[in-house]
Amino acid sequence: MVRLEKIRKSYGANEVLRGIDLEISAGEVVCILGPSGSGKSTLLRCINYIEKPTSGFVIVDDQVIGFRKSPRSHGALRELKDQEVARQRRAMGMVFQRFNLFPHMTVQENITHAPRLVKRVATKKARERALELLGTVGLRDRAGAYPGQLSGGQQQRVAIARALAMDPALMLFDEPTSALDPELVGDVLEVMKDLARQGLTMIVVTHEIGFAREVADRVVFMDNGEIIEQGPPREVIDAPQHERTRAFLSRVL
Ligand code: ATP
Ligand code: MG
Repeated sequence: MVRLEKIRKSYGANEVLRGIDLEISAGEVVCILGPSGSGKSTLLRCINYIEKPTSGFVIVDDQVIGFRKSPRSHGALRELKDQEVARQRRAMGMVFQRFNLFPHMTVQENITHAPRLVKRVATKKARERALELLGTVGLRDRAGAYPGQLSGGQQQRVAIARALAMDPALMLFDEPTSALDPELVGDVLEVMKDLARQGLTMIVVTHEIGFAREVADRVVFMDNGEIIEQGPPREVIDAPQHERTRAFLSRVL
């Protein structure tokens, strides 16, 4: 479903990702752990091509993001224009640490905006779907509210609903709860657990070790732009093999 091949990313002389290979199956939930600065956000941004990798390929459902041809086939890859890349990127929904809702639109308008504009979904249909998604995230009664009238946790749940409205094959979460007051974290994690149970393919960068242990099919530990180890939570979290993983976990657990 998703395959990363030798992803490298440099900012000037600073090599932030040093050759990431990762394969994720449909329905799999992968949690990425690692210290600050290890390249987790950069990796997510490269997966959905907000950032272009310096080299390497992101392959989603057999489409090489940013290119025309599969690297398996003969002939050179041709780079796509931004507009075409944007179309490919619709396969992925992303939720960031900071809620980035449109402040001047209601909750419902936030959710219907992209489907109407980008996918040309009829207004009535988009609104119905928005209410359905608001039900999923437990906010059906707040459809008419503006983001500023909601708590951080509620805003983040709207952000999740907004991403889901584009029917992404893959959802990327970058520390979706780390900017929230502690009492609001649980509701957002509950929504994410529901999505995982429904079989959505998810990549979640998180410091919530409890969530990773409970929900992840696989945990990936990154340090210094590399994957140090990966496996089921009971291996990586409860019995890490690598010294750097142990050191990290001893600081956060
Ligand atoms: P955190 O847990 O603090 O969010 P992270 O693992 O997400 O950390 P990244 O944000 O991916 O780490 O950053 C990895 C490295 O890349 C850092 O050294 C950072 O300074 C650098 N970096 C990230 N984005 C840029 C950029 N746009 N320009 C230059 N350097 C960048
Ligand atoms: Mg980050």
